[in-house]
Amino acid sequence: MPIESYNPHTGRVLRRFTAFTWAKTERILDQAHRAAAKWQATTFAHRAEILRRSAEILRERQDDLARLMALEMGKPVTDGRAEVLKCATCCEYYADHAEGFLADEIIKTDASRSFISYQPLGVVLAIMPWNFPLWQVVRFAAPALMAGNVGLLKHASNVPQCALALEAIFHDAGLPPACFRTLLIETDQVEKLLTDDRVRAATLTGSEGAGAAVAAIAGAQIKKTVLELGGSDAFIVLADADLELAAKTAAQSRMINSGQSCIAAKRFIVEKPVVKDFISLMKTHLLAMRPGDPLDESTQYGPLARPDLADELTSQVEESVDQGARVELFGGQAKPGTALFRPMILSNIKPGQRAYAEELFGPVALVLEAKNADDAVRLANDSRFGLGAAVWTADAKKGEAMARQIESGAVFVNGLVKSSPELPFGGVKKSGYGRELSYLGIREFVNQKSVWIG
Ligand code: NDP
Repeated sequence: MPIESYNPHTGRVLRRFTAFTWAKTERILDQAHRAAAKWQATTFAHRAEILRRSAEILRERQDDLARLMALEMGKPVTDGRAEVLKCATCCEYYADHAEGFLADEIIKTDASRSFISYQPLGVVLAIMPWNFPLWQVVRFAAPALMAGNVGLLKHASNVPQCALALEAIFHDAGLPPACFRTLLIETDQVEKLLTDDRVRAATLTGSEGAGAAVAAIAGAQIKKTVLELGGSDAFIVLADADLELAAKTAAQSRMINSGQSCIAAKRFIVEKPVVKDFISLMKTHLLAMRPGDPLDESTQYGPLARPDLADELTSQVEESVDQGARVELFGGQAKPGTALFRPMILSNIKPGQRAYAEELFGPVALVLEAKNADDAVRLANDSRFGLGAAVWTADAKKGEAMARQIESGAVFVNGLVKSSPELPFGGVKKSGYGRELSYLGIREFVNQKSVWIG
């Protein structure tokens, strides 16, 4: 894909970038590799100071950064500012906790002293998507830098200015420039980077196809990867749930980032006696949401990030309807090649339909009817994905028992599924492997070294 900023609201190209030559990329890689040795010798206190300053700069620049996201991928500015603040919090979280998370862990053995020591790996390549252009990168970079690693970022081709803005923030905060660089490259250079011994590991957030391609190359090189891929999160509503709150949260969750979130609720699995009321309530909430120019403070949802993503979503919906899905709320694209996609609700979702099997990365809510709680769990687990899930019930014990049965990386009972620095984030099945955030995230890209002293 060409590296360009394209405004999905106006349909105008804002800026085109020339991709780096391999010679330039290789030079940056070499600088990063050499910088890694020095960076890992710095103290946690020094790294924390830089991360804290990064957090301050993020807050100072929140308006500009929100505007950039609005222009490059259509996120409303109010949501953009929230994303920037979340990035700042994440930087501070790892500034505060990294040293403790990576402290030597004494283990009793037959040695006079034995322990686990956590040591950085070196250069980590991050391949990131456009949907949360700052957050996806920061949740990798903050722990990686605090652990003593250095990062090279290959961001999605449609958010180059966000990528450069983030690089500038780390540099302005005092990070040696070679310790975090944005590479304006197309995917053809990713293989070259992954096969270079100076790149020690890689992390990718994005589609299953991109994840599989990167993991295959890295696997052949015996190189560690973390993959955070798609999801088709179940949102289970039992008959005893607070239906009004569940429906309000359902609409909110489905509409996160105009529906383009890996942990947005996508499959609403509702017990039969309340399914009609649930659909009616969710419809009211979805219709109340205001679309518009992402730069406008009153806009609640913007266009999808690119017209081709809206075209693909339309084809998923149309084929599913041909295969028997029922339209409960009409919305969608006004015409092909445009990025605005109004929310839709589809019911009668059955095996054999695209909507049953695939991730719908946009504001389309799928309603599935469940006979009872066991049936709801069965439907939730009948998916190739396993990222997040939610259970809504008045019986918290039952909710917890169901949470244990659901095959996913996270389950929230009576709450909106979200990420936060304290809890690990990641999936099972085709949603990927490895964890980001929490103390588990910072331990992904370290050598967990056993030291035994006789
Ligand atoms: P991609 O997975 O194609 O893009 C994500 C990142 O991976 C981008 O930086 C992209 O670069 C890169 N990439 C893509 N293919 C390769 C490859 N073969 N080797 C190395 N890097 C690669 O997402 P799309 O933008 O095409 O979106 C398509 C679908 O992906 C969505 O509809 C959604 O289902 C899923 N997705 C999931 C996300 C999540 O948060 N889990 C986020 C975004 C998308 P480039 O931009 O240059 O192609």
